[in-house]
Amino acid sequence: MVEVNREGEVWVFAEQKDGALQEVTLELCGKARELADQLGVKAGAVLSGETLTGLPEQLIECGIDRVYRVTDDRLGFYQTAPYARILCRLIDKYVPQIVLFGATAIGRDLAPRVASEMQAGMTADCTDLEIKDVPDKKNKTVHEKLLLQIRPAFGGNIIATIVNYDMWPQMATIREGVMPLPSPDPERTGWVVDEEVALAEEHFPIKLIEQHVKKRTVNLKSARVIVSGGGGVGSKDGFDRIHDLAGALGGAVGASRAAVDNEFIDKGHQVGQTGTTVRPALYIAAGISGAVQHRAGMEESAKIVAINNDSKAPIFSVAHYGIVGDLHKVIPMLVKSLRERR
Ligand code: FAD
Repeated sequence: MVEVNREGEVWVFAEQKDGALQEVTLELCGKARELADQLGVKAGAVLSGETLTGLPEQLIECGIDRVYRVTDDRLGFYQTAPYARILCRLIDKYVPQIVLFGATAIGRDLAPRVASEMQAGMTADCTDLEIKDVPDKKNKTVHEKLLLQIRPAFGGNIIATIVNYDMWPQMATIREGVMPLPSPDPERTGWVVDEEVALAEEHFPIKLIEQHVKKRTVNLKSARVIVSGGGGVGSKDGFDRIHDLAGALGGAVGASRAAVDNEFIDKGHQVGQTGTTVRPALYIAAGISGAVQHRAGMEESAKIVAINNDSKAPIFSVAHYGIVGDLHKVIPMLVKSLRERR
């Protein structure tokens, strides 16, 4: 456990793959900037890898003040042990007060390892972060400016707020897509600090022989328009209507878990607590009831349109526009009208 350092920076683990930063890293840079400003401290990012050209500048443009860079040609692909060692040694050296990771496969692997070695608390899968004073009734004191680590709990039925006032650094993984992407500011300036962390051969227990990469078939996170179908679509063939509308709008196809469980479409399209979190400019939910686990993944969309034949469906409580009707009649009319307007 490291000391409680109220002057400590707010850090982001800068996740990169093949020399490109992951989108969630940039989302976290924007959040780290906001938290650091509230705390009156600097925002930092730890960037490790083999080829890191242009990445420190990108982090700085998105809100980071100091990039701690570790370059080593053995860090070409991610391995837990060396990456954890680098972070732990830099945490020992600089004592940040907050360390944030994307809740990606890598972030979910790395963060608990680092938390365990540092004997720090960690909250997985946060959907929001805030800074607030937290009263401690038992000890009749107030813990000033703690990180509120907010996430759904008990199957999404409650939103839990978790704080850590003594086992610092305060650490969290944050779901992809829940924080807005900051607009890069090419005028921003910052520092790149080259660090050396001693890494022995024993820190590289895995040898990469060959890689087979399966490309994502759908990229919901970057879609500006998403048309999602739910259990109410009724069949795999019926899902063609969802594809038609998405096609007419130039959007991506999403789905509720009921649609995935019924094999109308594959899991890569699922939106929600156990799927992808999205915030497109337009989200159309057709035949989706609006269960809390689905809403958790889409309610931050800029405009939501719900099509449902039950006027009391919960989805209407988050929709900006609602159409009460049978989606199999409504969608063909929408598609026809959109095509005619073209
Ligand atoms: P249904 O509940 O079957 O609702 C269908 C809706 O379609 C109804 O509102 C009905 O009125 C309407 N409808 C029916 N026919 C028509 C028609 N012809 N025209 C128009 N409307 C029609 N769910 C997710 O979506 N994403 C998740 O990531 C997710 N994670 C979960 C995690 C956990 C731990 C748990 C417990 C659950 C999770 N769920 C998730 C499941 C969630 O609780 C719901 O069961 C699911 O979202 C229901 O999907 P649905 O609304 O499409 O289907």
